[in-house]
Amino acid sequence: MANKNGVKYKIRKNDQVQVMAGKDRGKAGRVLRVDRDRGRVVVEGLNMVKKAIRPKGQNQKGGISSVEAALAISNVQIVCKKCGPTRVGQRTEKGEKVRFCKKCGEQL
Ligand SMILES: [Zn+2]
Repeated sequence: MANKNGVKYKIRKNDQVQVMAGKDRGKAGRVLRVDRDRGRVVVEGLNMVKKAIRPKGQNQKGGISSVEAALAISNVQIVCKKCGPTRVGQRTEKGEKVRFCKKCGEQL
């Protein structure tokens, strides 16, 4: 799970995460995309920015629409069902790498 810079991220698509900094601090959402090379994630419904949409073809109107902008991975934390936002550890169980909550040890 290391990127080309050798940095490891434990966040995966569909993880539940909470934003720890910035304008959406404290809000939580589901990870839609992980960009490991840039160290960024896109979280559903968070960090919305207005974007101008160009009309495509005859039936589609242009206009302004809201889309999710990427957040720095360092600004989000994985949410544990028991404890909330938490640091994540990794261990090997039955030959498989699993992630766990560092607070309660629960598998994530
Ligand atoms: Zn926990």
